[in-house]
Amino acid sequence: MADIDALVAELTRAEKLSLVRGTTDPEGTATGYLPGVPRLDIPPLRLVDGPLGIRAEGGRATAFPATLATAATFDTDLARQQGAATAREARAHDQDALLAPGVNILRVPHCGRNFEYLSEDPVLASGLSRALVAGIESEDVIATVKHFVANNQETHRTTVSADVDERTLRELYLPPFRAAVEAGVGSVMTAYNRVNGTHMSDHERLVGDVLKDEWGFAGYVVSDWYGLESTVGAANAGLDVEMPGVPSGPDDPGEEFEWPDGIPDGSRAGLFGDPLADAIDHGSVPARRLDEMVRRVLGQLARIGLLDDRDRPGELDTDRHRDLARAVAARGTVLLDNDGVLPLADDADVALIGPHIYDAKLGGGGSSETTPFHSVSPADGVTARADGAVATARGIPEIENVSLFDLLPFVDSGHEADDDSGHEADPSLDDAIAAAEDADIAVVAVRDATTEARDRDSLALPGRQNELIEAVAAANDRTVVVLRTGGPVETPWREDVAAVVEQWYPGQADGAALADVLYGDRDPSGRLPVTFAPEESYPASDERRFPGEDGVAHYDEGVFVGYRHFDAEDDEPIYPFGHGHSYTTFEYGDATAVGDATVEVAVENVGERAGREVVQAYVRPPAVEGIDRPEREFAGAQPVRLDAGESRTVTLDLDELAFTRYSDGWTVDDGRYTVEVGRSVADVRSTVSIER
Ligand code: BGC
Repeated sequence: MADIDALVAELTRAEKLSLVRGTTDPEGTATGYLPGVPRLDIPPLRLVDGPLGIRAEGGRATAFPATLATAATFDTDLARQQGAATAREARAHDQDALLAPGVNILRVPHCGRNFEYLSEDPVLASGLSRALVAGIESEDVIATVKHFVANNQETHRTTVSADVDERTLRELYLPPFRAAVEAGVGSVMTAYNRVNGTHMSDHERLVGDVLKDEWGFAGYVVSDWYGLESTVGAANAGLDVEMPGVPSGPDDPGEEFEWPDGIPDGSRAGLFGDPLADAIDHGSVPARRLDEMVRRVLGQLARIGLLDDRDRPGELDTDRHRDLARAVAARGTVLLDNDGVLPLADDADVALIGPHIYDAKLGGGGSSETTPFHSVSPADGVTARADGAVATARGIPEIENVSLFDLLPFVDSGHEADDDSGHEADPSLDDAIAAAEDADIAVVAVRDATTEARDRDSLALPGRQNELIEAVAAANDRTVVVLRTGGPVETPWREDVAAVVEQWYPGQADGAALADVLYGDRDPSGRLPVTFAPEESYPASDERRFPGEDGVAHYDEGVFVGYRHFDAEDDEPIYPFGHGHSYTTFEYGDATAVGDATVEVAVENVGERAGREVVQAYVRPPAVEGIDRPEREFAGAQPVRLDAGESRTVTLDLDELAFTRYSDGWTVDDGRYTVEVGRSVADVRSTVSIER
């Protein structure tokens, strides 16, 4: 491995400066580019989006399911495989660093980027963060965990201050980043927002003290795009690389342009160029800081083999990547309700209805958009699988697509019109109702529309989709609703339909994975990584908290986010955290403790078909005077596939985070901890005590 110190000693100052400020990729494919130093055989570094698949400009790649769908599998092995596959695709596109995973906690159900994130729970998010990072890094690609930290909303994201107390930061928002560091992440991207008044790129305490000194992060810290606020503040806080480093904006630089809310000012670039040189000359940034920045960048180049020309072959759109995209999409699908109508009989006559049944739902808008080589729409997937007749009808007009790129007139969004020419230009609700009346089963596929840089204004399905569902349900009492959403949505018709399925954003395999689940070729093994509840019952429904007042989002709900809030309020949500039905039935034996951080439980599949259970553990802490703790905290899960009649003892390792609390350091209170083992936060099957 290269001697980094020796290399740094040979660099001129101009060369050092060029290694910490992005510039334009001459090949035009990368999202961010560091030029390298040819004189010393230091190659360029190419950084590319993103969490759902590679977004190399002009290139195609496997469109994996949204990160939230991956999270719904509760399966760290699968997440690791997805990380590795995405990294191989980055390699195939000649990219070195992946701008993924996104691990921000789902604090606000409206957040336009929830689909790129993992969970409302820090233990679930941390386990998956670790797995995704390990997968990416296993293929000699630098993972970039983002957005550090408390970037939980898109509204005013470039200016808002998340005002959050230390305990809440430590217990809720920081853990998925710490997990990424423990897994060896090569890069951390700072968020656009402020935390307690200080911009994250300038946040010396969180970037310098916590991330680097306390956690020992050895890679480089990169700004979000145009997300650098200052030169001196950032350099001294611990920010190592400015991206993209070059400005963007209207073609005519004289033209006045008002940057829309949520979009960073693209003219602000180059703060690590000459201004950094000046700051070093004036002594406001020590010269050794520049050396350290460079050392951190070169350290990562060396680690992935870029300095010794290691062969790092890539892989693009192979069978195993296609199969993985389909497996994750199917496994992340959550069966929210089922009165027995699912799985479908092979020969059932199906009416497939919905405004977008002819398009796959690839993802949300923004930097995670991926263009696949091929995709399967719900109509194609169901038609290919069904032995019975399949009638299709849109019923209502399309839902308006939203994307960050459409907000910028000078950016070519690359959005083509959906290729569904020939399919009902003028959809009719009557046709949809007639199709539903004639079929054994009606399947209605609906979606929301979310994007980076915007939050949803409501948790209701957009357009006339609720009306469509009601009309179809009135025509056929065997109606299945298939949700394709970037987070929780309201389901006011749920009592009137026979089954509800949540597919999130399933990616290119959409219709194929949907058919896998609808026909029972795969057991729906997804579980909710986020609580579904009425809009006004979430803690973030208070304007002070979201989107905030006078530039401040007050995180004064503290650690009571998601199911912890609903527990504390004694408020039953619509679909609780961890919830998801199976096509078979599982019975649990008595849980037993093995040591003080592991439990075992026998789980039996007492149904008629094979299935996949996600065995979950929650820890209830002992009461401690004066300390307000969540009633219970998710402590871990283990997916297990069981044939009909099969029984297995499942071992659950309990995450220490579920036992500890933070107050000037981590504490485990003495006393009795009750471990609840079961199918969701609300469906406990066995309990066992652990003394600490
Ligand atoms: C996003 C990042 C993304 C970057 C580069 C930013 O707008 O917040 O997640 O990686 O752009 O596209």
